[in-house]
Amino acid sequence: MSSLRFKAVEEAFKKKALCVTAPSKFTSDYYGKSLFNKVAMEKYLSKDTLKALKNVINKGETLNLAIANQVAVGMKLWATELGATHYTHWFQPLTDGTAEKHDSFIDYVGAPGETIMEDFSGKLLAQQEPDASSFPSGGIRSTFEARGYTAWDPTSPAFIVDDCLVIPTIFISYTGESLDLKAPLLKALNAVDKAATAVCQMFDPNVKKVIAYLGWEQEYFLVDEGLYATRPDLMLTGRTLLGHESAKNQQMEDHYFGAVPTRVAAFMKDLEFEAYKYGIPLKTRHNEVAPNQFELAPIYGECNLSNDQNLLVMSIMKKVARRHGFRLLLHEKPFAGINGSGKHNNWSLGTDTGVGLFTPGKTPEENLQFVTFLVNTLMAVHKHNALLKASIMTAQNALRLGANEAPPAIVSAFLGTQLSAILDKLENSTSEEAIILDAKKKLHLGIARIPEVFLDNTDRNRTSAFAFTGNRFEFRAVGSSANCSSAMAVLNTAVAAQLTDFKAEVDAKIAAGSTKEKAIFDIIKSYIKASKAIHFDGNGYSDEWKVEAAKRGLDCETCVPEIFKAYTSPESVKLFTSMGVLTEKELHARNEVKWETYTKKIQIEARVLGDLAVNHIIPIGTRYQSFLLDNVWKIKNVFSGEKAEKLSALDTALIVEIGERIAAIKNAVDDMIDTRRQVNKIESEYEKAIAYHDKVLPYFDIIRYNTDKLELIVDDEMWTLPKYRELLFIR
Ligand code: ADP
Ligand code: MG
Repeated sequence: MSSLRFKAVEEAFKKKALCVTAPSKFTSDYYGKSLFNKVAMEKYLSKDTLKALKNVINKGETLNLAIANQVAVGMKLWATELGATHYTHWFQPLTDGTAEKHDSFIDYVGAPGETIMEDFSGKLLAQQEPDASSFPSGGIRSTFEARGYTAWDPTSPAFIVDDCLVIPTIFISYTGESLDLKAPLLKALNAVDKAATAVCQMFDPNVKKVIAYLGWEQEYFLVDEGLYATRPDLMLTGRTLLGHESAKNQQMEDHYFGAVPTRVAAFMKDLEFEAYKYGIPLKTRHNEVAPNQFELAPIYGECNLSNDQNLLVMSIMKKVARRHGFRLLLHEKPFAGINGSGKHNNWSLGTDTGVGLFTPGKTPEENLQFVTFLVNTLMAVHKHNALLKASIMTAQNALRLGANEAPPAIVSAFLGTQLSAILDKLENSTSEEAIILDAKKKLHLGIARIPEVFLDNTDRNRTSAFAFTGNRFEFRAVGSSANCSSAMAVLNTAVAAQLTDFKAEVDAKIAAGSTKEKAIFDIIKSYIKASKAIHFDGNGYSDEWKVEAAKRGLDCETCVPEIFKAYTSPESVKLFTSMGVLTEKELHARNEVKWETYTKKIQIEARVLGDLAVNHIIPIGTRYQSFLLDNVWKIKNVFSGEKAEKLSALDTALIVEIGERIAAIKNAVDDMIDTRRQVNKIESEYEKAIAYHDKVLPYFDIIRYNTDKLELIVDDEMWTLPKYRELLFIR
């Protein structure tokens, strides 16, 4: 009997919620206290330094060493007063998560061996050289010249975790190539700012800057720590590779927005205290659709900052969960048969004059600007739908897309009935009807005003990968464990390039004698026609949509390693290089890393699955089979003839079934190991990843199918692994 499993279940049920007390009645009392924010800067920096730093942050002016030195002094004083003894450059390598290496502030005052002091200079703040040879670079940085540099990103404030001052940085190679996810995002944000500002100035010359915003919604699962510890698959791969569906899971739809279990509520409260200290404006918390699935979302913010906050929150969540006896799962599909976890990326653009470019606006001229940005976004998403899909694709996310309530692995845009009607009307109008130049020489839409509040704001389409939701687009295909910068870098770059083309086309028409309003209108009209294929308001989960999407020429590829190729297509190379975001060399290097990561993920899962099958499942099956054989033998000793046959028939049938299932599992494991041995010899990362996808992955289904069937027939007492019904219902 599996005493370990029963003990873990018993303990899990006995656990009580941890009592958590807020540091203060008012959140605003402790909000941002661990962050080197505006308030801290005003206190610890001189007026001149603050002004210079603001110019670096807001105007992109270069950071000179003199300013960096001044900032370092103030930052160190602030940090040490709050108990920091160390500092670190925090960066986002091409692996999952973030990386950091802590250094103490101490240095000798004079000669070595004499007294020490806390020291921190502008040089240390601005640049570091971590021993970074073991971070993936896709071949850019061969180990003999393994130099990588981290460089301070002053646009994202430093913060203190425990005793360490954490400085957000980018990570680049000695030769200047990006080795991380942050540097391309910053370049993409810069590109979209430039391109969008130029377009905005056609409507309002006062606009000097356009900011991209991100509001993420983080979904996650919690499982009891004790149960987690008895599931090697959860521990090593983040998901269950085996496990029959629970008789009850999400079919009653009673979890979504239900009362949060007390233990989870205590975790959420504790998590919020922690996050508020870092100025992460968490706003929403609730139960999600699947049992044990939850969500939290902050108020949206500037894209780069909001992404850093998400990365920080993911690491805080994991730590706080452990304090409450939980393990937090960020995997996109921890449990088969129920919803997976995503991280919807709510994205919009806004001007420094306070106008949301996807907000229909109060005035008619804002309406035209709105339509311009909307239609250009549709064009960008249409042109680069394959690339956008590549930006969110991973081995884990592939398990979620197209299954139980996730967007399909096809990128399309949802607009809703009202907006669709407006675009239809524009498409069928003449420029004279559609656009009016008023007495103040301002352009605006002549057709019916766009209502301020959209009906579709409430009537959402949850099956679309890229849905317009009233004042923003919601990119729903992003995975829960993802660094949003992959998706955000691609989206902002694609929109930047599109807006640049748009402006050039308008200018060309004006140069050829057209009026500005006619030029804008004619181009918008042509875009509405050209981007039709991406616009789909129907059910994205349906099989008909897959057929229809293929007919429309949208990317329908489902093989993950193949999907990554969209990054190096001629159109994508042109896109990234023309916008100055990534070079062709960087794009190729990144794909090498993606393929390698994919292979490793499947390889690890295959090993864990093989071990579980051989060390847990087959022995359990054999033991139960032997128990049944013993029973049959005893029956036949006591009874004879027809009676004996009748009484032992059920056991005999089970003995046969168990034998067959065990054989199927063993054969599949052996074949899978053989296949792995062969494909591991493949040199090319791309071909190896394809082989893992085509040849290794299919064994998972055979092994799981037979194991899950065994789980249904084997004596519950013998089953060593906690079952879904035990893992999934926190009390
Ligand atoms: P829902 O689950 O209904 O989609 P949530 O309230 O959970 O909505 O999350 C919506 C997210 O979108 C929040 O982070 C919110 O701040 C963000 N958001 C709202 N308006 C914008 C906007 N204009 N640009 C970017 N994000 C936005
Ligand atoms: Mg949402």
